[in-house]
Amino acid sequence: MTERIYYTDPACVEFDATVVSSSQADGRSIVVLDRTAFYPSSGGQPHDTGSLGDAQVTDVVDLDDGAIGHAVSASLAEGARVHGCVDWARRFDHMQQHTGQHVLSAAFDRLHRARTVGFHLGAVLSTLDLDKVLGHGALAAAESEANRIVWEDRPVSIRFAAPEEAAAMTFRKEPTRSGPLRVIEVEGFDVSACGGTHVARAGQVGVIALRSWEKFRGGMRLEFACGGRALREFRVLRDAVTGSLRFLSVAPQDLPSAIEGAQGENKDLRRTIRDLGERLAVHEAAALLLHARQVGPARVVIETLDGWDQAGLKALASAAATRPGVVAALLSAGDPALVVIARAPDVGLDAAAALKALMERFGGRGGGKAELAQGGGLSGTRAEMAAALNQFIESSLQPAP
Ligand SMILES: [Zn+2]
Repeated sequence: MTERIYYTDPACVEFDATVVSSSQADGRSIVVLDRTAFYPSSGGQPHDTGSLGDAQVTDVVDLDDGAIGHAVSASLAEGARVHGCVDWARRFDHMQQHTGQHVLSAAFDRLHRARTVGFHLGAVLSTLDLDKVLGHGALAAAESEANRIVWEDRPVSIRFAAPEEAAAMTFRKEPTRSGPLRVIEVEGFDVSACGGTHVARAGQVGVIALRSWEKFRGGMRLEFACGGRALREFRVLRDAVTGSLRFLSVAPQDLPSAIEGAQGENKDLRRTIRDLGERLAVHEAAALLLHARQVGPARVVIETLDGWDQAGLKALASAAATRPGVVAALLSAGDPALVVIARAPDVGLDAAAALKALMERFGGRGGGKAELAQGGGLSGTRAEMAAALNQFIESSLQPAP
């Protein structure tokens, strides 16, 4: 059994210990010490990192027999004395989040009888699961209450209670463990049985902020941030909001409605552009027909156009083909090529077959019907494609005598 220094002294970051065993497991060197300040992953709180002598500690795990295993970058000899160093920035962050969670859970319990049924402390996000759904006002009230306790800087104490003593105590959540309990008390506010690491005074949590919430398994899942994380989160939001305000010239509280307004305006503009594009296509189609060539009974225009997308080419070809006797085959100037083939209802040309013949030679994907076909991804010169289209159209409309 490893002596857990963090049980009684969570602020201890340097210690000396003796290597009790050194082994290999799953390709990792695992070291067990007679005593350690390293916290193993458990109870929703991630493990510590740091160093043992010259070796880096990359993982810390609870072993079956009450021992703590340290995964290290270089194995250590059994019996050796080592100096351990815990990464304090990472540990202190975990202590802020974990203590904040105790206070927040107690606030929900006291104000709304909402029990905490889950807790996860992640590398970036921490979540807390409640057994009931609360509204915005109730969430804000619990958040304020939790911060009141933090700002009163109440002591957070650790003590060990024998089973008979523990039986007489009132816990926020009834302990499931038997035997002596490690009891964490936020003075006059929360009593919990917990093996994690906590700050010594509530003020060290700094601030507790709810960042988002959603319905989850009949209750709610809240994301929250305490202390340094809350500050980092604030900076991210501040920069995002400030950057957005520069574009929109509104007050922060008006940002959502300003974005909604801009989106609506954007939608209206798109509709106007589409309408204008359709009207423009009619005029452009008339101009295109000046280049039409008579092939049998049809007037055929085969053109390469710059600056038109697939939808524009389609609108243009379709507009041209509203006139009797017209076949319009349009190619884009950009690579790979787009192609749209349209014909008037009175012309005996299969546009889909013309496209298929083109793609057999120049590749690409596409399809359509006898009146209208479109494709893209064709590669080759436009002159070659135009010649191929011309050949197909001429052979369709002017059968060999
Ligand atoms: Zn705890």
